[in-house]
Amino acid sequence: MLQLTFNIALTIMERTLTILKPDCVRKNLVGAVINHIERAGFRVVAMKKIRLTTETAGEFYAVHRERPFYGELVEFMSSGPCVPMILEKDNAVADFRTVIGATDPAQADAGTVRKLYADSKGENIVHGSDSDENAAIEAAFFFSTEEVVRGN
Ligand code: UDP
Ligand code: MG
Repeated sequence: MLQLTFNIALTIMERTLTILKPDCVRKNLVGAVINHIERAGFRVVAMKKIRLTTETAGEFYAVHRERPFYGELVEFMSSGPCVPMILEKDNAVADFRTVIGATDPAQADAGTVRKLYADSKGENIVHGSDSDENAAIEAAFFFSTEEVVRGN
């Protein structure tokens, strides 16, 4: 009897988009936060240091356009360089939100990035995508396909 066995190993790793915000860069915490992220099991597959303009910051956060904090947020996000990164891990989006903690550091769990390092709800060190769909949109906002490098 002919027996055919197929072993197909499919690894589809999830991605999320983070930004180490201008307060993180100003406080010289880029390395500390990346260390925290790597220790939590994420792999950096794309990374750069850039400075957003008010226009690009406004575009990135366009979903919050009608919120009272929008102007302040755009001003803050364009106030200095930041470090966007694409991260890979199983369950990346949800797990990264757990690692960074609540938006307001006062509400964030002990040991989270925002609890450890953030000063306020506005200046909260780090961005994390809120869904797989937005992770893909946000990754494309900062990185071309050539800038995303998988593997070791
Ligand atoms: N933000 C703020 N005041 C608020 C809520 C949010 O300044 O009351 C800022 C803060 O920097 C936050 C960003 O706007 O990270 C986006 O808000 P969101 O509710 O999406 O929070 P996040 O997803 O970053 O936790
Ligand atoms: Mg958000």
